[in-house]
Amino acid sequence: MSVSSDRSSQEAAKPPPAPGASSLPDRLAATSPAPPILSVNNIEVVYDHVILVLKGVSLTVAKGQIVALLGANGAGKSTTLKAISNLLSAERGEVTKGSIVFDGEEVHARSPNELVRRGCIQVMEGRHCFAHLSVEENLLTGAFTRGGGAAVRRDLELVYSYFPRLKERRGATAGYISGGEQQMCAMGRALMSRPKMILLDEPSMGLAPQLVEEIFKIVGDLNAKEGVSFLLAEQNTRMALKYARYGYVLENGRVVLDGAAKALGENEDVKEFYLGIAEGRRKSFREGKHYRRRKRWLA
Ligand code: ATP
Repeated sequence: MSVSSDRSSQEAAKPPPAPGASSLPDRLAATSPAPPILSVNNIEVVYDHVILVLKGVSLTVAKGQIVALLGANGAGKSTTLKAISNLLSAERGEVTKGSIVFDGEEVHARSPNELVRRGCIQVMEGRHCFAHLSVEENLLTGAFTRGGGAAVRRDLELVYSYFPRLKERRGATAGYISGGEQQMCAMGRALMSRPKMILLDEPSMGLAPQLVEEIFKIVGDLNAKEGVSFLLAEQNTRMALKYARYGYVLENGRVVLDGAAKALGENEDVKEFYLGIAEGRRKSFREGKHYRRRKRWLA
């Protein structure tokens, strides 16, 4: 596990480079069980030309992995996902430094729909279903990059096999189904594009614990049975670390800690942070005594 306030300390905490590997993606590729499907390399994101939100974020998702992106409100999780899926320009944001490589290709010049065709799709925070369309019509919109036909019908049945609730509600107007069903509808729609990777933003937001459990279990199943990789932005640290293999903690637009999910779950700072309150007030990772101690080691 590593703690980092910037890229250099993040790299310092990683295992030594393999012979011949020089850059961070090369080194991670050399030490990960599978090659990366996604590498985010030291990116900066600026909104409105002046608001610097991400300050050198690097992360890697190996093929077939679930990776958690953790952090409090405003830490920069959604911004990171939108930077990857190229959705920032709609909010007057842009990646001003660094690079993002998906499935072996730099994605900077790719439009969001080209990225969907290449297998990378985002499920936005807040579900975003087409309220006036039925559940099934919503799902079918997810296959628009692929045209129609028998394959799409088969995929619809595949979605229904993972989300039986959606099958029951297939004719219902999406605006009137429950929040949990809308989350499933948004995820099912993403699945209709046959993604290699889903960028999933806060699926637990506003949902009852039982539904959160149900949705995360489906994420785990999709990963295990369909081989879909996930980058999962979550404030629900406990659930995210239960299903993820690896995790990154973002604070104020920087990765301050990363490591295997199990190690992160046992980390005192993560526990403190997860509980939210320490010594009568909310703590930051940078104030955590373990973080400070490790930071001294890394200095
Ligand atoms: P949340 O869980 O609340 O969505 P987050 O970790 O996803 O939090 P972001 O939504 O990425 O965080 O926001 C990171 C920072 O960027 C915040 O300070 C936020 O105010 C700012 N921000 C986000 N979108 C914009 C925008 N369109 N214009 C200006 N600032 C923005």
